[in-house]
Amino acid sequence: MKRLVLVGGGHSHLEVIRRIGQHPSVGLHVTLVAPQRFKACSDMLPGLIAGHYQHADCHIDLEALCGTACVDRMADTVVGLDAQQRMVHCASGASIAYDLASLDIGSAATYAPQGMEVAVEPGEAFLAYWDALRQRAQSRVLHIVTVGGGASGIEMTLSMQHCLNQAGCRAHLSIAASNRTILPEHPAHVRRYFERVLRERGVGLLTGARVTRIEDQTVWLDSGAHLVADHVVWALGPRAAEWPAHAGLAADEHGFVLVDRTLRSTSHPEIFAAGDIAGMRDHSRPKSGVHALRQGQVLAENLMRTLGGQRLVRYAPQRLAPALITSGDRHAAASWGGLSVHGAWVWRWKDRRDRERMARYRVA
Ligand SMILES: Cc1cc2nc3c(=O)[nH]c(=O)nc-3n(C[C@H](O)[C@H](O)[C@H](O)COP(=O)(O)OP(=O)(O)OC[C@H]3O[C@@H](n4cnc5c(N)ncnc54)[C@H](O)[C@@H]3O)c2cc1C
Repeated sequence: MKRLVLVGGGHSHLEVIRRIGQHPSVGLHVTLVAPQRFKACSDMLPGLIAGHYQHADCHIDLEALCGTACVDRMADTVVGLDAQQRMVHCASGASIAYDLASLDIGSAATYAPQGMEVAVEPGEAFLAYWDALRQRAQSRVLHIVTVGGGASGIEMTLSMQHCLNQAGCRAHLSIAASNRTILPEHPAHVRRYFERVLRERGVGLLTGARVTRIEDQTVWLDSGAHLVADHVVWALGPRAAEWPAHAGLAADEHGFVLVDRTLRSTSHPEIFAAGDIAGMRDHSRPKSGVHALRQGQVLAENLMRTLGGQRLVRYAPQRLAPALITSGDRHAAASWGGLSVHGAWVWRWKDRRDRERMARYRVA
């Protein structure tokens, strides 16, 4: 019996489990290690925060999905890997032996959340924090500072504001971005659109502002200026967990597991990685849920081919995938290459796309 261990219930592994359910393999035992039963889809997190979605709209029941594919789910978190012994070690103290392992663990928290601070990823942790924040906002005016002027920082800030406004709560929101502009990787039209939205909605924006420290409900910037904050939301983009590199897996300059075009570790052929944790040696594309899902198709194929001793297929990323950025109020902007559009119809486009994707992994 061969043992395949899937670490993390990310987008790519959803596709792997779905495929295993469709094409069961005799002589294969599959284990998924995932801390939560319900996997939050961060692409839909801003819509959930804003109040446009219910919990069930943006969560996948991993237990149910695994049930359809005879995959064992272990409710645990992997904290280490022994590549020589071929074992993964979990936070509970359990260890699991593998013949083949695949990592799809997304991004690590940008900052270890403590008290007044939280990171937007992982989504499950953010949602728990957000529930508490929303409760506090019922009884007092809150100051919320988002650190990071990329797409996730802007979306989450506008979505939090929309939700608090709808609930009749008063809050002051601001964004501190270390770059000279917000959304530096997007066309100028998209930047201008979001600068206008932030201005019109009274969200404070400080660009070229690097946070140096946070103490006594104050966010200090390198300019010497400061912002009052009851809560600080970190949205600094994807960051790699440290344990895969500590285990000796080859990593790129940012610590992401280095994989070739087949999504196989460049240092350990019995290990694959996909989604945010994978650093593709031959392609550099912004990390996204769309890529993670597309990688899942190739990952599923290659895991089975490896077990069958067959030649592997290559992953070819889309050359231009549109980035869809929401603005809290059922509006969104799309940008690809130098082009951009915005409006309520873009939000409906994203909404339809996200719901259709979720439906593939939902068990009736
Ligand atoms: C606010 C926000 C909005 C976004 N909007 C979009 C968008 O509109 N479109 C888009 O394409 N992308 C978007 N993204 C990016 C996208 O969500 C991520 O790129 C995507 O979720 C990555 O998928 P993944 O498969 O790598 O991992 P994820 O889907 O993040 O899943 C990883 C899972 O692994 C689990 N895990 C983590 N560590 C361990 C461990 N050690 N052991 C076991 N399990 C573990 C986590 O709990 C999590 O459930 C957005 C991100 C954010 C934060």
